[in-house]
Amino acid sequence: MKVLLAKSAGFCFGVKRAVDMAFDTDATKTTYTLGHIIHNEAVINKLHNKGIHSVEELDNIPMDQVIIRAHGVPEDVYKEANDKAIHVVDATCPYVTKIHKLVNRHERDGYKIILIGDAKHPEIIGINGWTKEGCIILKNIDELDLSKLSKEERYFVVSQTTYKKAVVDEIVNTLEQAGYDIKFTNTICSATSERQDEAREIAGQVDAMVVIGSRLSSNTQKLYEICQSICPNTHCIDDASMLEKEWFDGVEEVGVTAGASTPSDVINEVLTKLEQI
Ligand code: SF4
Repeated sequence: MKVLLAKSAGFCFGVKRAVDMAFDTDATKTTYTLGHIIHNEAVINKLHNKGIHSVEELDNIPMDQVIIRAHGVPEDVYKEANDKAIHVVDATCPYVTKIHKLVNRHERDGYKIILIGDAKHPEIIGINGWTKEGCIILKNIDELDLSKLSKEERYFVVSQTTYKKAVVDEIVNTLEQAGYDIKFTNTICSATSERQDEAREIAGQVDAMVVIGSRLSSNTQKLYEICQSICPNTHCIDDASMLEKEWFDGVEEVGVTAGASTPSDVINEVLTKLEQI
């Protein structure tokens, strides 16, 4: 069975930077990450062994320093850390920081902010926290209620970095066609769109597709959905132990891609096991 690995599989720039920063942090000081650094058990366990654990909030846990992951956090968290004299190791992806600055500046310039994404996703919670009034958060076109918008207002529109372009385009086009005064900046990360384009291309060439990554990872889930819509024999796995031989009965070529938080050693183990199959 031939194995076709996507060049873009695995850590993106922002995740690699965050993981490297976490491992480079001086763990002789009491250090926590705010939320898991990435959606990957093996990496989280390695950090635990280094003495770095994770907390969901800064409340009530004494610490010297906190590592902020690539998803970023609301502005208040920096203020809270400062008030508590906690040193911040800021591993927010620079592409996400750019969105924080954009929404903050445009709100000050008088725009209402429309943020396309999943309201429960940490990146969206973080971006929302860089505005004073809060953003109008839309998961999809069904959540767009034009009766709540005003033609007297100016709207600045951005999206979650890992969001599907088609969803964003549909909302932006609808707003434009309805005559609202909108300014749109495309904030979908190129690492995400390149990974999705390549996955789409590979899924169209193979008999089976394996997507490696956590089900908790938004970009892994999107990859799975894209591949599955093209190649029904698509499987999402955390690691090599989840591979099942029967998936590859009669398969001549299998494609492999991986989410942005999947380490290279996990990908290599999957490739080795596929070669054995
Ligand atoms: S997907 Fe893009 S925005 Fe998100 S962490 Fe990776 S490089 Fe940064």
